[in-house]
Amino acid sequence: MIFWDEGALPSSDYVIGLWVYFIVNRGVVEVFNRMRWLFRRGLRVLMYHQVASAAESEHVVSVAQLEQQLRWLREQKFHFVTLHQMLHQSLPARAVLVSFDDAYASMFEFAQPVLRACDVPAVVFVPTAFIGQTSAWDHDARPVMDAAQLRILAANGCELAIHSHRHENYADLSATQVTADLHAAFATLQRLALPFVPALAYPFGARPRGARARSAFQATLRQCGVRLALRIGNRLNSLPLANPLEIQRLSVRGDETFPQFQRKIAWGKLF
Ligand SMILES: [Zn+2]
Repeated sequence: MIFWDEGALPSSDYVIGLWVYFIVNRGVVEVFNRMRWLFRRGLRVLMYHQVASAAESEHVVSVAQLEQQLRWLREQKFHFVTLHQMLHQSLPARAVLVSFDDAYASMFEFAQPVLRACDVPAVVFVPTAFIGQTSAWDHDARPVMDAAQLRILAANGCELAIHSHRHENYADLSATQVTADLHAAFATLQRLALPFVPALAYPFGARPRGARARSAFQATLRQCGVRLALRIGNRLNSLPLANPLEIQRLSVRGDETFPQFQRKIAWGKLF
């Protein structure tokens, strides 16, 4: 006896395709929630840039994305840490530092309320020559926070650190030029009476290539008082840190899905 018309059934390829779709797009969340042991140990440093009411591009994360990411990290028992902790104490096995580059005014407007609601500390890396101006190094320059906004952030528990003074590529500068730029950055924050941690996020993530040039560059940073420096790299950092001037960060992109964010948090870049 035939109960159904075989021709009306979906093909096995279609059914398999549905399962693959389900596993990749929906199952990943559940797998991560149940298999916390999958997460590699180490320090994760998240790198954000602009935040907006809706995601616009690679460098613009939406308020909803930021909130979902931070709440998920807390659910997964990650420990949010600060630069101050990194300098003065050993970190927990699954530490996360949240960082924002360029001190965009959108960070103040959109990210700060989320950070406060989620009780998550963060660091803002400030290109000090552009305080109260616009991001002249961008294709479409955006407003940069002024000193009053940075002061409010600091009073609300955000750390401030430097993203150089003039946002120039340090790989292209001489030791003398790097020294002058760093001195100007620290002097600007001191003149404005803004509290800061002696840490640097490399503009464009760039620093000199080659072992000899790199080691001379790092000596210059140390002489200028830089205690921690952060590049991009998109990998996790083993603890204790092998080199505090080569800390890697995970780039959080507005054009990535939540499962992509979760995979990045779990393992960083695989290849
Ligand atoms: Zn930058």
